[in-house]
Amino acid sequence: MEDCIFCKIAAGEIPASVVYEDDLVIAFDDLNPQAPVHTLVIPKAHHANIIDGVPAETLGAMVHAVEEVAHAKGLDEGFRVIANTGEVAGQTVHHFHMHVLGGKPLGENLV
Ligand code: AMP
Ligand code: ZN
Repeated sequence: MEDCIFCKIAAGEIPASVVYEDDLVIAFDDLNPQAPVHTLVIPKAHHANIIDGVPAETLGAMVHAVEEVAHAKGLDEGFRVIANTGEVAGQTVHHFHMHVLGGKPLGENLV
C-alpha cells in the first residue's frame, strides 16, 4: 500500500532492525522503545488492524514470530503482546502490528 511505512519496511524500502522474517511476517525493533525489549511483529501484506480480514495462516505466522522474538530476545520470564486497534486505542500506524514488550517488570496495569 502506498505511503504505508510498515509496507515499506516489509518491502525492504525503509531500513529496520529485523529480528525475524519469513514469507508472511517480519519482526523488527521499535524505533521508540517503551521497554528494554520492544519489537513489532507485522504481516507483510497490508491489513489495517487485527480485524481487517487477516487470514488465519497469517495470524498463525504472527504468533510463531512472537515466539521467535521471545527466544531471540531472551524473554524467558515473560512478556506482553499488545495490538492497538483504532485511534481510540492509540494506533498511530494503520498497518496491523503486535508490540512485543519485555526485559523489565511491566506492572500489573494494562493501561
Ligand atoms: P501504534 O501506536 O500501536 O500504532 O504503534 C506504532 C509503533 O510504530 C510506535 O511504537 C512507533 O515507535 C513505531 N514506529 C513508527 N515508525 C517506525 C519505524 N520506521 N521503525 C520502527 N518502528 C516504528
Ligand atoms: Zn501497510
